[in-house]
Amino acid sequence: MRTILKLGKQEHRFIDRISELSGENVYSCYQCGRCSAGCPMAFEMDILPNQLIRLVQLGEEEALIASKTLFICASCFTCQSRCPKGINIANVAEAIRYLAEPKGKDHFGPDEVPAELADELP
Ligand code: SF4
Ligand code: SF4
Repeated sequence: MRTILKLGKQEHRFIDRISELSGENVYSCYQCGRCSAGCPMAFEMDILPNQLIRLVQLGEEEALIASKTLFICASCFTCQSRCPKGINIANVAEAIRYLAEPKGKDHFGPDEVPAELADELP
């Protein structure tokens, strides 16, 4: 049986805000995965670039704001160059960070640095 997903007003507001702030058409993503396959930072992400866009399409604001990926993305634009729809995920991540900042999630805390990297800090 096919399930039709219905989003609420809050989810629609979030998606519209992300689209407005980023200038990206997040609805055009069809989950081909080319962005994640080419992302040089994917190995450190808890949500892959294609998953990030899917969560935006679903209005999953809390999951996105909690994601480390927002602060791992290096804004290299490889995803945009590979995306058949030209979506720039760095712009989308920046828009989510902008909305996350008033909620106290505006940085990647020292306790979130992987142990193997923390050992290399001065
Ligand atoms: S490459 Fe573009 S269309 Fe494909 S999953 Fe990534 S964002 Fe979506
Ligand atoms: S801009 Fe961010 S998400 Fe896109 S390929 Fe670069 S590191 Fe990955």
